[in-house]
Amino acid sequence: MIPIPQEHPALSLDAYRVVAKGERAVAEALSRPICPACNGTGQARSERDGIVTVGRCRCQMLPDRVHLFNQAGIPARYAHATFISFAQDKNGLLKALDPSAIRALGLCSQFVDGFKTGQLNRGMILYGDVGRGKTHLLIATIRELIFRHGVPVRFMEFSRLLSLLKAGYSEGRSDAPLLSELSEVPVLAIDELGKGRLSDWELTIIDEVVSRRYNGMGCTLGTSNYAPGDPSGASPPNLATHTVPTQTLGDRVGERVYSRFLQLSDFVQVAGHDHRAQPLG
Ligand SMILES: [Zn+2]
Repeated sequence: MIPIPQEHPALSLDAYRVVAKGERAVAEALSRPICPACNGTGQARSERDGIVTVGRCRCQMLPDRVHLFNQAGIPARYAHATFISFAQDKNGLLKALDPSAIRALGLCSQFVDGFKTGQLNRGMILYGDVGRGKTHLLIATIRELIFRHGVPVRFMEFSRLLSLLKAGYSEGRSDAPLLSELSEVPVLAIDELGKGRLSDWELTIIDEVVSRRYNGMGCTLGTSNYAPGDPSGASPPNLATHTVPTQTLGDRVGERVYSRFLQLSDFVQVAGHDHRAQPLG
């Protein structure tokens, strides 16, 4: 794809909006005047050295990216998740964020700035206690990647990823398109890494996805309530008493998968107070 300057008007924030529709966050291009370059056909002629070629018009960049966003699987409750809404409330006032959250916001923004399509990009895993805005930040990052870089992204909760893979296998579809899609999508964003009770079989499948991504130079993003660390042998968290998890991500996903994540991604802490205790702006 032709590199497009970021200030291209078709991609400015007021050229589209994201709304909640059913279970999904859905992007919509706002109506604009008919493009003079292609007369609204989406196909434009260009001439170079006397050779005329017909190709996709630049005005189609926004509809293409709206389509990418709508394929990404963003949950409806994050329709308004942007970098700005992470830092500011509805009245535009700065939220009282923990220094680690401000640092994480800066790192996510730098990550988007430095993202290179078609090349190896080191991923990022945001970790910290429940309710610190990790998923908000992850989705804001995805949104920027799609609208600024036009990169295909797939967002998925870890537990859903496991159940979909399991369903594919139990129906004898071991080479299911899903496994290939998850392995090959340029950016895979996994929410709540390590959540749930994991069987050896599930760990094997996760290992396959992650190692295929590693070999294919895919970029893997994620969130986790578990801090990075090798398996420590600590007991699982007691969900009934809401005790803070003392297990590491290594305890949850095993040494092999954890070491692959270390190879693929940087870990960034998001600490602070629990946003879920009060309504989010
Ligand atoms: Zn056009």
